Amino acid sequence: MIQLGNGILIEMDGCSFRFDPKRVLPDEISMISHAHSDHLPSSFKQMSAICSPVTRDMIKARRNKEIAICSDDRVTELEAGHIAGSRMFLVDGETSVLYTGDFCTREKEQTKAAKPRKCDILITEATYGKPQYVFPDHDEIMSIARDWLRDIVGKDGCAVLYAYPLGKSQELSAYLKDLPLVLHPAIAENNRILQKHGYDLVQKEYDGHGTKPPFVYITSGMGKDAARVQSLKKHGAKTAAFSGWALDRGFMYQSGVDEAFPISDHCGFDELIEFVRRCSPQKVFTNHGFSKEFAMHVRRSLGIQAQPLVARQRTLDHFC
Ligand SMILES: [Zn+2]
Ligand SMILES: [Zn+2]
Repeated sequence: MIQLGNGILIEMDGCSFRFDPKRVLPDEISMISHAHSDHLPSSFKQMSAICSPVTRDMIKARRNKEIAICSDDRVTELEAGHIAGSRMFLVDGETSVLYTGDFCTREKEQTKAAKPRKCDILITEATYGKPQYVFPDHDEIMSIARDWLRDIVGKDGCAVLYAYPLGKSQELSAYLKDLPLVLHPAIAENNRILQKHGYDLVQKEYDGHGTKPPFVYITSGMGKDAARVQSLKKHGAKTAAFSGWALDRGFMYQSGVDEAFPISDHCGFDELIEFVRRCSPQKVFTNHGFSKEFAMHVRRSLGIQAQPLVARQRTLDHFC
């Protein structure tokens, strides 16, 4: 049985396996794929889960909960290539189920690529599950961004880069480390946590009085920081966004930025299709983003049964 609601529940071999639960429950095997807030639990009735040490430490920082990492013979953790510490989970029971969480098959500065695994059932995210979302070469886009920033910094200017505090910010921290980077405190805190796990990332925080141009400020630009960014813009700072949605026409205009770079921590459409093909499952469930559209493309182009996960019970037997 597979069920959406409080993450995704699989019942198999008389056991409850739950992916990315909102509530970690006793008598279940809980697996937490990564530390983005839409995947993190908010309540813990049991203080153990299968996750990476990075995710465990991020749970401590974000939720103030100390959880123990546990394991199960039937569960294999696999690199998800999404952000630091992200994992996919392969559950091998009466049938084999691969859950991708958010994942990316492109190798990046800070994360290795996710690799496909043969499975009977594949539960995949479909954030960019429409054919128009095909990402250009990661290194090429990053080097265009770096040239643009070098030019600004070379003229004693400053730039504000909008990026998620966990994921894109570390990628930028690593790739642009030869530039005068300053970080939002939340990003610096994440970099400090990751330092303990062997990541070599800058940690210098932006200081309103002490930080003088030239500099490159990485921030989400959200909350209180919006006013700070407005003031920097008034003083001539250039702005750039790093997002997969930059492939959309109109993204730059809607975001009000000077430049937009199509950098993503997810697979593009072509990579999603290739991943499914190489996992060669009998059945695919899609989740997140363009899940309906992507399921249709899997059926049409690969001839594999596929459907979006919806919040009601389904029986695996129907599909195996
Ligand atoms: Zn994520
Ligand atoms: Zn997500």
